[in-house]
Amino acid sequence: MVSTGRCITMVGVLFIAIAVPAIQAVPLAGGDGGVSSQHNDRLPHPPGSEPPAHAVVLFNGKDLSNWRQPDGQPAVWKVKDGVMTVTRGDIVTDETFTDVFIHVEFRTPDMPQASGQAKGNSGVYLQGRYEIQVLDSYGINLPGKGDCGAIYGQYAPLVKACKPPLEWQTYDAIFRAPRVDAAGKVTDPPRITVLHNDMVIHNNVELLGPTAGHLDANVGAPGPLLLQGHGSPVQYRNIWLIHLPLEGSDTYEPR
Ligand code: MG
Repeated sequence: MVSTGRCITMVGVLFIAIAVPAIQAVPLAGGDGGVSSQHNDRLPHPPGSEPPAHAVVLFNGKDLSNWRQPDGQPAVWKVKDGVMTVTRGDIVTDETFTDVFIHVEFRTPDMPQASGQAKGNSGVYLQGRYEIQVLDSYGINLPGKGDCGAIYGQYAPLVKACKPPLEWQTYDAIFRAPRVDAAGKVTDPPRITVLHNDMVIHNNVELLGPTAGHLDANVGAPGPLLLQGHGSPVQYRNIWLIHLPLEGSDTYEPR
């Protein structure tokens, strides 16, 4: 019996090995594998890769025309060679969103004399309320709730995925905004999945509320992307998002 089971298993493996490339090689109707291209996205997005054609590009690499300070004043971060660098203060996008797929590339500076929260600190706040920490945490074996990739103060990353300072790193986050009732009470908390340098560091975690330094607590409203100025010349580039539908449909039109 055992040998029969092994035989079936090996046949099954062989079938999969043969069949999968064959399936992948044959485009289905629509040329897109039958998957809607409107909202779908494909991973990974290595540093410097082109945004998907349907993405909303938040940073054009030339200026901060889509950005401002939280008080409405013009953003003052430095822009050069397709890269923005923190100077002072937070900046927010004009674009706001609810559920979203978002891609951000960042590079922490080399600050060997600094330590802890003073070492390459910045942050990516979804809706201006929920911070994915940016920090030089390279070499830390057990990153905590304040280290790079943490949902600041709430969740440490599942694994360490940090690259050294001066190397470009990526965040790809899938965010589901909280649902609120007519009175503004949260009925369904926000959730987030985050990939850091293509490694899953948060697996659909339920956020406990806005993190420290949040823009506002109006959690039922759409919000912008906020990048944190925290005294370190962290750099950003290639920032884009894809708005996600708030729910699926059972009436997709045939392609
Ligand atoms: Mg921070």
